[in-house]
Amino acid sequence: MQLYSESDVDTSFLADRRVAILGYGSQGRAHALNLKDSGFDVVVGLRPGGASWPIAEADGLTVLEPNDAVKGAAVVMFLTPDMVQKSLYKTVVDDIEQGAMLLFAHGFAIHFKQIEPRADLDVALIAPKGPGGLVRRQYEEGHGVPCLVAVHQDATGNALKTALAYSAGIGGARAGVIETTFAEETETDLFGEQAVLCGGATELIVAGFETLVEAGYQPEVAYYEVMHELKLIVDLLHEGGLRKMHKFISDTAAWGDMVSGPRVVDAQSRAAMKTILSEIQDGTFARNWIAENENGMPEFKRMMNADLEHPIETVGADLRGRMDWLEE
Ligand code: NAD
Ligand code: MG
Repeated sequence: MQLYSESDVDTSFLADRRVAILGYGSQGRAHALNLKDSGFDVVVGLRPGGASWPIAEADGLTVLEPNDAVKGAAVVMFLTPDMVQKSLYKTVVDDIEQGAMLLFAHGFAIHFKQIEPRADLDVALIAPKGPGGLVRRQYEEGHGVPCLVAVHQDATGNALKTALAYSAGIGGARAGVIETTFAEETETDLFGEQAVLCGGATELIVAGFETLVEAGYQPEVAYYEVMHELKLIVDLLHEGGLRKMHKFISDTAAWGDMVSGPRVVDAQSRAAMKTILSEIQDGTFARNWIAENENGMPEFKRMMNADLEHPIETVGADLRGRMDWLEE
């Protein structure tokens, strides 16, 4: 494994060179503000009239239309939703400088060939392993969220060095930057969010909630048990792995974990994980998701509504309303 830390990075590769951040959502805001505070020349590229424009301006950033933002920029970072990147690239490609860098925080558009970049451009990835809010907060506290770096196309010979300088600018190099490929980042990221982080975890929570409620237990008690308390366990795992969790939970909880966990995530679940991974690897997932977007996202909206209207949401909103400190 190749791991870069702050001492390996030469930030002069980006000194006096402009960075254009396209998009100002979760990642865009964090990257733009961190780079600005690190002393880099940053502009934000947004659609006029969009909701993010006044927010970026109020944050003290220079905001331009995407075509103007990329003019004169040495690095163009795509932080719009993945499904928008193809058309946005087509819109701005003729205004991007010769020898500039296209940078991504997730490899989807390049790996699945939504964008086939101009040959004179460097193409790289700096993917923070955390949501944008955390990328900003860790930076302000003097820390950083670890990042992955990958180079898809090295036209100038300096692609890796330029990408690493960017990772230092957002604070990632403080925590460490691991070298990967677009394929590895894209496939592991999609698998992680589907099977474990978002899909797996929420399905586990909801199934646990329904099991308790169907057995006649109070929904409020079930909510605390399977949703609220999860954070306490995840914090222990995040800080110190399985060892730290086992140190802090009771022996009864540890015994129950070891005898019952493998019955929930059993051979069938593991087989499903393998199928999910192959559908990511062979492009089936990407093809379906792109088609869903082109159709106006009917399935996405239907399933999202079902998630948001689940009884665990009503019970949760009520209970969280009594703990107003949770919002922070
Ligand atoms: P987001 O949905 O939070 O924000 C998207 C931004 O793009 C908004 O400011 C929106 O106004 C703007 N936008 C939409 N269409 C546009 C257009 N045509 N032209 C210009 N701007 C446009 O997005 P996000 O979650 O920050 O994701 C951005 C990228 O970062 C994606 O590639 C994603 O995979 C990656 N990523 C996200 C996270 C995360 O935690 N959210 C983590 C790692 C990587
Ligand atoms: Mg779900």
